[in-house]
Amino acid sequence: MDWTPDALAELRALLGDDGVLDSEAARLAYDTDALTLERGMPDVVVLPRSTDEVAALLRWAHAHGVPVTPRGAGTGLAGGSTPHHGGMLLVTSRMDQVLSLDPLRMFAWVQPGLVNARLSELAAPHGLHFAPDPSSQPVSTIGGNVAANAGGPHCLKHGVTANHVLGLVVVLHDGSVVTLGGEAPDAPDVELASVVAGSEGTLGILCEICVRLVPRPEAVHTMSFDFAVVEDACRAVSAVIAAGIVPAAMELMDRRTMEVIEAWLHLGLPLEAAAVLVVEVDGPAVSLPAQVGRITAIAREHGARSVRAASDAAERAALWRGRKSAFGAYGRTGRAFYLMDGTVPRSRLAEAVAAVYALAGARGLSAGTLLHAGDGNLHPHILFDPDDETQRRAALEVSQEILRACLRLGGTISGEHGIGLEKIPMMSEVYAPADLQTMGRLRRAFDPDGLMNPGKVLPGGADGGVSPAHVRAPAQPRGLDAKSDRERPWR
Ligand SMILES: Cc1cc2nc3c(=O)[nH]c(=O)nc-3n(C[C@H](O)[C@H](O)[C@H](O)COP(=O)(O)OP(=O)(O)OC[C@H]3O[C@@H](n4cnc5c(N)ncnc54)[C@H](O)[C@@H]3O)c2cc1C
Repeated sequence: MDWTPDALAELRALLGDDGVLDSEAARLAYDTDALTLERGMPDVVVLPRSTDEVAALLRWAHAHGVPVTPRGAGTGLAGGSTPHHGGMLLVTSRMDQVLSLDPLRMFAWVQPGLVNARLSELAAPHGLHFAPDPSSQPVSTIGGNVAANAGGPHCLKHGVTANHVLGLVVVLHDGSVVTLGGEAPDAPDVELASVVAGSEGTLGILCEICVRLVPRPEAVHTMSFDFAVVEDACRAVSAVIAAGIVPAAMELMDRRTMEVIEAWLHLGLPLEAAAVLVVEVDGPAVSLPAQVGRITAIAREHGARSVRAASDAAERAALWRGRKSAFGAYGRTGRAFYLMDGTVPRSRLAEAVAAVYALAGARGLSAGTLLHAGDGNLHPHILFDPDDETQRRAALEVSQEILRACLRLGGTISGEHGIGLEKIPMMSEVYAPADLQTMGRLRRAFDPDGLMNPGKVLPGGADGGVSPAHVRAPAQPRGLDAKSDRERPWR
């Protein structure tokens, strides 16, 4: 595609001058998501406001053979909204309206650029909220959450984002607009909304999203337990669920993570402990004391040394502030860190955490871990010096070794961040060729020309038949394993 002044003028005619960014400085601001190891400059950034504008943009892109990468807030941690093949970056930040909210039937239709936390704020006067709560919820968008099928601390009890999607209006590769599912609970369709949710922008642009809202719990009780041995805390998590209790959240932070949080926020976290387990229960007030008693007993049986209960909303907020600030706190250490996402069965958590420390230690790297422990979802943070090529490479290799350890323990390579660019080299270790080809055929059915977020999720050969004629070669990788060269056909 030749980005001539005439081509850009056609886009400006669709969106207005302020809806099209083509200066190098503006495009540079969008060359990565929160996985900064991978980068790629878009040729143009477009900022539509409505479904009609998105449809017009996709008709234009289809006519010109231009690849389109959707982007919400760009907080993704797998490179999903990095425009690796250039082309058009379609940013939804101006599509941020609640289109309708029905408190009686407990759903809302929203635009994709609406920020997650804002939806719950708007639903609060009706006694409702949007349950999926990724730690990025003050900035990440509902569209990005649905496309990545985001999880969050409270998804243990309440379900991940896809469980809260009732319907979608999607613009497909050629600009056609389809409605999948809807607010009626028993719509007689083939559940295509579930196929598109979690597809990381590879099947179409989510333009209107019908989400389930749920009542705010009548009562909440939050407590934290500290442990001298991280693995004991992991075993306590498994034992609580095995006892038939499903807390709203069970989050674990190791000492390294507490240290970086404490250095910033001074919350009084117990730095002498090896790990802290935060457990929250919610529901009818009458049901909570028995759960709290049982969970406390199980934690003590597994070595919990002290129990701290949040006495009021402020103390609860402080506990969660610590947990949800971990990413920023690691950022303040002045070192680079690679935040990973892997999952194991809950009963294997202790082994997985031990493997993280052993694998990082064997390469002379230090790692801290926090976990959505109730879901068996680990987030190791591997610290390294980005200017030291040996360390940087070691961090990337350790990350793959940790994911392989998760696979050996019966888990998988992503709990919630998705595949994006990051995990492509691992896909063929998880799925058989026939599995990947089936996913590729599904992708081709939605996007025969391979223009929707090309080069993401599926390895080369299974990626829906994207042809090099349509997309320019990807940016030179700054980060992930060179092995991916053989996985991506255009390098
Ligand atoms: C500090 C921090 C904490 C985090 N905590 C969590 C957590 O607890 N749980 C969790 O799951 N993730 C977490 N993440 C990762 C990230 O926030 C989530 O993946 C989030 O859902 C991304 O939303 P976004 O709006 O930033 O989307 P982006 O990063 O912009 O995009 C994510 C993916 O969705 C696609 N996409 C975006 N909008 C659309 C659309 N309208 N139509 C089609 N495709 C689209 C993009 O192409 C990309 O593949 C965290 C990230 C950070 C930086």
